[in-house]
Parts: sequence; structure tokens; C-alpha cells
Amino acid sequence: MAVGMQDFPLTVGKILDHAAKYHTKRKIISRSIEGPITKTNWGEVQVQAKKVSQALISLGIRTGDVIGVMAWNTSRHLEVWYGVPGAGAVNHTLNPRLFADQLVYIINHAEDRFLIIDFDLIPIIEGIWDRLTTVEKVIVMTNRAHMPQSSIPDLICYEELLEPFDGNFDWVELEETSPCGICYTSGTTGDPKGVIYTHRSNTLHALAASAPDMLGLSSNDVAMPVVPLFHANGWSIAYSAPLVGSGLVMPGRDMTPAALFEMLDYGVTFTAAVPTIWMLMLQHLQANDLHLPALERVLIGGSSCPRAVIETFQNDYGVQVLHAWGMTEMSPLGTICTFKPEITALDAVGRLDAQGTTGHPPYSIDLRITDDTDQELPWDGQTQGKLWAKGVGVLQRYLKHDEDAVDKDGWFDTGDVATIDENGYIRITDRSKDVIKSGGEWISSISLENAAIAHPEVAEAAAIGIAHPKWDERPILVIVAMPNKTPDANDILDLVGKSFAKWQVPDDVVFLDELPHTATGKISKLELRKILITQNYKLPE
Ligand code: ADP
Repeated sequence: MAVGMQDFPLTVGKILDHAAKYHTKRKIISRSIEGPITKTNWGEVQVQAKKVSQALISLGIRTGDVIGVMAWNTSRHLEVWYGVPGAGAVNHTLNPRLFADQLVYIINHAEDRFLIIDFDLIPIIEGIWDRLTTVEKVIVMTNRAHMPQSSIPDLICYEELLEPFDGNFDWVELEETSPCGICYTSGTTGDPKGVIYTHRSNTLHALAASAPDMLGLSSNDVAMPVVPLFHANGWSIAYSAPLVGSGLVMPGRDMTPAALFEMLDYGVTFTAAVPTIWMLMLQHLQANDLHLPALERVLIGGSSCPRAVIETFQNDYGVQVLHAWGMTEMSPLGTICTFKPEITALDAVGRLDAQGTTGHPPYSIDLRITDDTDQELPWDGQTQGKLWAKGVGVLQRYLKHDEDAVDKDGWFDTGDVATIDENGYIRITDRSKDVIKSGGEWISSISLENAAIAHPEVAEAAAIGIAHPKWDERPILVIVAMPNKTPDANDILDLVGKSFAKWQVPDDVVFLDELPHTATGKISKLELRKILITQNYKLPE
């Protein structure tokens, strides 16, 4: 039979073209790195992005070249987000919070030819410049007035670079399976690993993520990605928003609650970030008696979201929490907790319980849990197993690896441990390497932490397993207290004991002034274990 439908390669430039044509004037408000708030729209972003493509090509960038981008969430970053792949190049997002050695590793490993960076981040690049083996040019995203003195030779000023171009340009023609972006995993064990997103995977992932049961974005929304674009593909928001014509508010560098609150005031209806940001925001709202009149939905993921955060947002501020799970290797969306009719039918407590899970996947992602012998486990909401994923936005092979990262049937081992219930809702109970095994049974460190954090004087909690001669491992809790509070260890254990069997309750509570975190803001249990070793920690007899 003759082909009946058009070939319409799914390249990301088309997403911006759609927004520019059909949602031209939808506003994009941004806190610039220079300070002032700037205003633009999808029409203007498209012109600027095309100028970026023209400028990069004029500097010698060719299809498939990799460009490292280290920038905060601003409208200029959006221009680059589309301008780099529009020139046929690959956008390698760089997290400025990575250790210098990791940055050097990933820039050299991905063979970045150019770097495009915000001007306040120049010192980071200066510090590693001598060790970068492939970078030819550094473009600084500012105007001439803000160009700093630097030891890096021949810095290029972004605004001056774009000046001669008119934006009259057709995106470079590409196969939809061409690389579009690279994001490295944080590499808590071993070297970071590069995940290569294609134009097709980013487009289909953005479509799936925008669906009503997922982010539920529309042209009536104003979305504010607090999650940086350099963290796990920016959680798709820089693709999903133009795809449906949402406005955007880009908060820039300042992540303090006061600064974010100011940006929320630009009519933001949807926002997204890791739990820590929202815990601080809720404290700020409460302390200053503030409200969130426009905000409708907040996407929280990256780590497990404490129940109290969900409850407070919903009950006190009328904001629906979307608890999400994902990972860099999944573009990053895995599941989002929105209510199926079975959940809507529950009472308030039942619905809140459901929100402790991270919900269900969109079409295009398939999930399963297995035991150690790779036998599929039941969906009973109780049985914990290794969580595997398959789908259009899921990793096949890391950059420059010789072998695929999936099993013979195409399943990718997420490294997470989860339960799945009869409605298909996934509860992440651990990372495989953090599972606490006591007397042959698994105890979920995430559930212990969530129980401890419900104590009003506990700011942060980490549960880890400590080697035990009889039980293999026993759990302990490491706690950071709220400022000026000294919670009682037994009170915390009593609270945990309300939702755990006696043998699951931790043997000890250790108090620290702070917990070590990774570059993406997660508690680093690897570092935490090292700290306990240096303190010569021993389980109580
Ligand atoms: P990084 O380790 O660089 O931060 P990712 O952002 O890709 O990388 O982290 C993905 C991991 O974060 C997941 O594999 C999972 O362990 C954890 N995670 C993400 N969302 C949640 C969630 N809602 N609850 C529990 N863990 C989560």
C-alpha cells in the first residue's frame, strides 16, 4: 500500500515554530543575570534562537558538534536551548554546582567545541580552563557593558555576536533521530555518564509530559521552571511549554524563597522544583503570612516529597501537588501522581496516601518490577522490587559506551526499588544501593525518612543501614534539626514507630548540623557514610 501520511520529522525546532506562529505573543518573563526583569514572547524568542543558529554556523559549528551550555533559567537560555540544536549542534547542559574535576571530565568527554555561559559563571570556567582539551571558544551570555575581564582568551560577547544576524533562517535539516542534547548523570559512583537525547525523543517526551494526566499544561498556563534547565533535561518544561503555548516565567539565578515568590507573582499557574525548594518556600509563606492566589499546580520530584509539604500546599494554599519520579536517563519523566477515578473516590486521607506514591506513567513509558532472579513481581502495593523502564524517552546506551545499557528485551534497570499497586501507582522505596536489609527483609529508607521528617522539629532526615553481626544491617536515622530546635531522639523514634513494625524502627538517631548533598541537591549517602566512619560511629549495643 502506498504511504498515506506525511513524513514530518520530529525535530525540536518545530516546537518553537509552533509556539511562535500560534502563540506568538504569549509572554516570557525573566529575571536576567544582570538584574532587571525582562519581557519577551515566543515570537521574539524564535527570532533570537535563529540568530543564535546563524551565529554559531558563522563561527564554524557543524552538524553534530557539541556545545556546552552553563546557564541559569532565563529567556536567553531559551534562545540557546533552541538555537544550538537549530544549527544542527548538540546542547550539552552543564551544572555549575558540579565539582571542578567532574566538569573537566564531562566537557572533555563530550568534546564540547564551544561553551556558552552566563557571565557570573566565568570564574568556574577560568578555574578549569587549562584542563579543557577540546573547547575552542567561550561565548558569554550578556551585553558589552557586562563583559568582565577574564584570563580566558578571546571571550565572545553574546549580544554582539548576534547583532549582525536577522533571524531569517531555516533550521538545519536533520533526521529526527539526530542527537539534540546531552545531560550527564551526577556520577555519585564512578565517572558521570552521558545521556544523549534525540530530537525525536525530546519531542515525543514533551508530548507525553504535557498530557492532562501528566503536567497538564495548556495555553492558559504560565509555567515557572525553578528546576534548572541543566538538571535532567529541565524536566521537559522548555519543550512542553512552547508545545502547548504556555507562557513562561524564568526565575534566573536567585533561588531564595523571597525571590521566587516575587516571580510567582507574574501570574504563574504551574511551577516545578525539588522538595527542598518548596520546604523553604512554605516556611517563607508561613513566616510572612503570604498567599499564592494564581498558582494552581506544583510539580515536585527528584527526591521523595514529604507528606507535610503536599498537605500544606493543598490544604493551606489551594495548590495541587504533582508528585513525580524520573531520572536523567528517562528524559526525565517516569511517573506523575495525578488522580485516576479510583483515587478521586477516596476520602481526603486516602488521596493524600496515594500522593505518597509518584503515580503512573504516561503512554510511551512501560514499567515493571522484578526480584533478583528477574521474575516479574505482583502489583500489590507491598512487594518491593527492582524497577525497570522501557520507552521512547528511555536511555539505550550511554555516550561512548561500547554496550547498550538495557537487557536483551530492551528493559533499562533504573537502579530504583519500588512497589506498584493495583491501580498502577508506583512508590519509590529506595535506590538499590541504599536499600536497608535487615534479617533478610528490606526496609525502605525513603519511608523511614518520610516518617521522621513529619516531626515538626526535624528539618532533614537520612536513613542508612549499618552493618550488624546478627541482622546483616540495622537502620539508623541521621537528623538535622530545624533552626534553634533540639528534637528528642525517642520522640522521633516513637513517631516512626507509629507507621513501622518494631523490627523496622531504627536502632539509633544521630544528629548532625548538616547533611552532605549532591550537585542536584540530593542527600549523598555515600558521603554520609564516610562522615560516620570518620566519627568512628558504632551502633548501640
Ligand atoms: P541525579 O542523581 O543526577 O540527581 P537524577 O535527577 O536523574 O540524577 O536522579 C534520578 C533519581 O532520583 C531516581 O533514580 C530516584 O532514585 C530519585 N528520585 C527522583 N524522583 C523521586 C521521587 N519522587 N521519590 C523518590 N526518589 C526520586
